[in-house]
Amino acid sequence: MAGQVRDADVVVVGGGIGGLANALALTLKGLRVRVLERAHRFGEVGAGLQIAPNCTRILHRWGLLEEVTSLGVRPEAIVMRDALGGDVLTRLDLRDVERRYGFPYLVIHRSDLHGALLRACRRAGVDLVDDVTVTGYEQTGEGAAAIHAGGREAGAVVVAADGLHSVARRLLSDDEPVSSAYVAYRGAVPFAQVAHLDVQPKDVVVHVGPRCHFVQYPLRHGEMFNQVAVFESPKALAGEADWGTPDELDAAFAATGERVRAALPLMWRDRWWRMFDREPIDTWVRGRVALTGDAAHPPLQYLAQGAVMAVEDAYVLAEHVARRTSAAGVDWDAALAAYDAVRPVHCRRVQTTARAWGRLWHHDGEEREWRDAVLRGRDVYDYTYVDWLFGPTALTPEELPPMFPGYDDGPAQSHYGAPKQGFRGRSPEDFGSAPTT
Ligand SMILES: Cc1cc2nc3c(=O)[nH]c(=O)nc-3n(C[C@H](O)[C@H](O)[C@H](O)COP(=O)(O)OP(=O)(O)OC[C@H]3O[C@@H](n4cnc5c(N)ncnc54)[C@H](O)[C@@H]3O)c2cc1C
Repeated sequence: MAGQVRDADVVVVGGGIGGLANALALTLKGLRVRVLERAHRFGEVGAGLQIAPNCTRILHRWGLLEEVTSLGVRPEAIVMRDALGGDVLTRLDLRDVERRYGFPYLVIHRSDLHGALLRACRRAGVDLVDDVTVTGYEQTGEGAAAIHAGGREAGAVVVAADGLHSVARRLLSDDEPVSSAYVAYRGAVPFAQVAHLDVQPKDVVVHVGPRCHFVQYPLRHGEMFNQVAVFESPKALAGEADWGTPDELDAAFAATGERVRAALPLMWRDRWWRMFDREPIDTWVRGRVALTGDAAHPPLQYLAQGAVMAVEDAYVLAEHVARRTSAAGVDWDAALAAYDAVRPVHCRRVQTTARAWGRLWHHDGEEREWRDAVLRGRDVYDYTYVDWLFGPTALTPEELPPMFPGYDDGPAQSHYGAPKQGFRGRSPEDFGSAPTT
């Protein structure tokens, strides 16, 4: 645990991408920020991450886009293939995406994005404290405090970026993570290991199949290749505790085509990620404690917007803080209210659309045929289904973009609901394409 040399205006709990993004954004607005991270050192595990223009636009504002671009890859396209037959269903031209939205779509190793944020936090003077597990929160006369075994850390505000299993979220909701019964295997390997396979080294490719999908994209200037294999676990559906095991991985992809099966042995088989989200909640602020990132809005990953939303949260909160700063200090209650007025609405939309998108990817039988026909017929330059994501991040409810036709802002829908929920009232012809993870 590092030394604590001064009082902080803001205490951030959690040093993942969300926590560091918030710490950086607030520090750049002139605040003193301390981050408490439970791990022994700040870092990220996992493999690749896709970051869309609504994230790279913000990284540009923070002066990080050049560094992040140099660490990652600007893929040429997102290509969706049928995992069984192998044929291309649709694609998104990422050069055109960059022209349209003004900022690139990047893929990057998680540790590289996290590292860039960490270095920026250090340069900006963020107080980074590891080895502290926060166990509770309290409101104080002047703000709030995070409680841990060694005492408490107080500030005008505590921003909780403590992830899917957030302790802080209990202040606002008694909900639990929702299991999708899907599990992800990852594997980032040197490109040489896939060079002999039928891979597309400059694209993000997602192979969609019945109850499974497989994603591939380059990392680190193409020197590495990232793969993600996602499938529905029969053991999870049967209620067994030990689910998502490698035997299930092999069985889930047994019927897929050669492109997928040939690449599957390269997945890391000693660890896997069970896929959870939560029901959206409509307020993330209790007194002077505010949720951000996965603590506030963990999505299923099908839109590749989880970390992106965390970066957007940080940008929006910091902009509202700046707008409400005067010689008398920050009007925190007004800034938090402004944040809470806009971010939960957008993130609810992402969470519910991600669920619907996942169902669409994993169709079987007639529904799969319907989906494939719709995607094959899509105009490659139709952005109906991504404009609301990739455009500038809204700072106020009035700035929220229109949703795609047929989107319904109703209550969150179950994973196991009807296949087209979330796109109610749309006919197949209306469907476009969206990004992948
Ligand atoms: C398979 C998969 C693929 C994905 N792909 C993408 C993608 O392509 N693009 C994208 O944008 N998103 C993607 N995501 C989602 C993304 O990974 C998450 O949304 C994002 O990492 C959340 O960041 P966070 O900082 O909010 O939470 P976390 O990364 O969970 O960080 C929380 C931090 O808080 C710390 N912490 C937790 N509890 C405490 C405590 N009590 N006290 C102190 N510290 C604590 C943890 O140690 C951790 O460092 C994907 C997710 C998965 C599972």
